[in-house]
Amino acid sequence: MAKVERMDAHRNGPAHAFDAILGLGSNLGDRTHNIDEAIRLLTADGSIRVVARSKLYRSAPWGVTDQDWFVNACVAVQTGLSPHALLKQCQAVENDMGRIRTRRWGPRIIDVDILTFRDLVIADPDLTVPHPLIAGRAFVLVPLKDVAPELKLGGRTIDSMLEKLDSSEVQLV
Ligand code: AMP
Repeated sequence: MAKVERMDAHRNGPAHAFDAILGLGSNLGDRTHNIDEAIRLLTADGSIRVVARSKLYRSAPWGVTDQDWFVNACVAVQTGLSPHALLKQCQAVENDMGRIRTRRWGPRIIDVDILTFRDLVIADPDLTVPHPLIAGRAFVLVPLKDVAPELKLGGRTIDSMLEKLDSSEVQLV
């Protein structure tokens, strides 16, 4: 059974203005279009509604650096889906858009991650929420701040996480 605890990820801003925050990234083809298309597909059946959308950022590749720059964005969404159903929907969009899984952190037409889901902490084999790599990635934190500037994760503000990172390579598109 999933380990689910409550934490303070969502006790911020207007009460329950959003249910989840999704992080999107693309570094193949028309990257800006890919982000738009992923959002269109995510919301197409009405089960997910975007309530806030970040600006688009260019960011240097992370992990595997011999590949093109990424375009990254975040959306805050309202949804009646469960966390696992939301993950399925994110993965369906990745698959629909023709994402081929090659090497870890390799080029991808689209990547959709669940960054937060209400104030849940989930540690399942297939789903970790809040996403475990938020705090170490400026390209996630910078757009995240656009949609949820007051967000705290594990008691830490976005700014306090950003202070420890070099965000000079995260630039507005
Ligand atoms: P990625 O290559 O970044 O798309 O990672 C995909 C894998 O991460 C899938 O097998 C998911 O089940 C798993 N995963 C774990 N936690 C999350 C999350 N919060 N959001 C998206 N994928 C997740």
